Amino acid sequence: MSDLVRNYIGGQWVEARSGETFDSINPATEEVIAPIAKSGAEDVQAAVEAAKHAYKNWRLLPAPRRGEILFRVAQLLTERKEQLAQLLTMEMGKVIAEARGDVQEAIDMAFFMGGEGRRLHGYTAPVELPNKFGMAIRDSVGVVALITPWNFPIAIPSWKSLPALVAGNTVVFKPASDTPKLGAEFVRIFAEAGIPDGVFNVVLGPGGTVGNAIADHPDVRVISFTGSTEVGYEMYARAAKKGKKVSLELGGKNAIIVMDDANLDLAVEAILWSAFGTTGQRCTATSRIIVQNGIRPKLVEALVERAKALKLGYGIDPDVQVGPLINERARQTVAEYVEIGKGEGARMLTGGEIAGHGCGGVGYFYQPTLFDNVRADMRIAQEEIFGPVLSIIEVKTLEEAVEVNNNVKYGLSSSIFTENVNAAFHAIRDLTTGIVYINHGTIGAEIQFPFGGTRGTGNGMREAGQTALDTFTEWKSVYIDYSGRLQRAQIDTDSILGDA
Ligand code: NAD
Repeated sequence: MSDLVRNYIGGQWVEARSGETFDSINPATEEVIAPIAKSGAEDVQAAVEAAKHAYKNWRLLPAPRRGEILFRVAQLLTERKEQLAQLLTMEMGKVIAEARGDVQEAIDMAFFMGGEGRRLHGYTAPVELPNKFGMAIRDSVGVVALITPWNFPIAIPSWKSLPALVAGNTVVFKPASDTPKLGAEFVRIFAEAGIPDGVFNVVLGPGGTVGNAIADHPDVRVISFTGSTEVGYEMYARAAKKGKKVSLELGGKNAIIVMDDANLDLAVEAILWSAFGTTGQRCTATSRIIVQNGIRPKLVEALVERAKALKLGYGIDPDVQVGPLINERARQTVAEYVEIGKGEGARMLTGGEIAGHGCGGVGYFYQPTLFDNVRADMRIAQEEIFGPVLSIIEVKTLEEAVEVNNNVKYGLSSSIFTENVNAAFHAIRDLTTGIVYINHGTIGAEIQFPFGGTRGTGNGMREAGQTALDTFTEWKSVYIDYSGRLQRAQIDTDSILGDA
């Protein structure tokens, strides 16, 4: 067990004001990784004050200089990639290859947003009066708060903090209470890269207390939240009362459509990777297969065989393919949904048991589970389970497949396997998710494109790409009149020809 992991406030590593702690647990071994500062509202207050103070200078530092600090962050993340990935597998449980991918995503984002320091584009447009100039520029907002889940403990904080910082804001960051050490290590890299004191603060602790204090604080102008739809909506309502801008990235119920003309082997590979990678704990994980009737028997047979052969265990071992669930509560949720599926009349083909893998029978493991004969309106086909449970739904046509895909309360990611270009383009047009893949699973987003979803997955905002800047900036429209006289817009336009 390592030393106490502290908050980082105003450039100092400090204990929670209460002196209380909680433990971070390795989900594969159930061992304590480290004691963690258990913060409360007074720690949030201190962090917001530090961020507010630091904002005065940070916003004035030219954006290319801010970008240079992000390039140093990218460099340090690259140097520490393996070390961070090992800690990631320990604290969150995903297998080591995926943990490296999690860190790589942050490296990619740091280089991308470092470059934004020399872009942060606004625009000009012609104006309607002579001797006048108009432009729209992006302005920083002030103190922004980032609340993140445990499933991408390095990548998701990077999606939020890097655009927020390059745009000139200062940050209060609350990582998930299941992955607090990774949150602190992430911030440590910024400190080492030379981020000024108070610009990036981390407050560790439970969602309710710390999250609510953030939502209520009058000096926090923007909240960027990723997590469950339930908590996200609560946060949204609470923050709305204070007029804050909120960006929400929430749950998913993503599907892969497999048409009769699909490349079967490719579809099987993609389904296994999308459904059971990260133990089904990705917001973009595939939890529904919508399969055309002709190809269904072969697909089902191949999936059962391959799902049974997946190797569970502690993901530090590079041969392990599926790690544990994040905690016992998550495993119980999966077990409950499996009972619900059975009760609804779905046919379980494999899995459905708590798995005794891991280190000597410990760890929050659950077998990869496949349900067939699932109807589109069953709860297991509608609700986010966030675990290794996959439902197979049969359809006859592309139109029916699209309807089943769209008819859930979430709208994050979808995919279709077909060799028919017309079917692919129909799907692109008609699938109503924020992300669509053709001949690829539902996971694998790249950081230069907008990331997010429709319906219950969010509130219309997007992360990643340049769209991420919309969350962390306000538009400022600037009019410069160099005519030397009062020119009234919309009123004095008639006399222009004579005046020009
Ligand atoms: P969660 O909603 O339980 O927690 C998310 C964050 O909110 C954590 O930091 C948590 O401590 C905090 N929190 C919890 N209760 C709070 C409260 N009352 N007030 C304020 N903050 C509170 O979600 P989770 O279990 O950490 O993550 C899993 C969920 O995240 C899944 O639903 C998944 O689909 C979603 N997710 C979405 C995306 C996306 O981009 N759409 C990405 C990853 C995960």
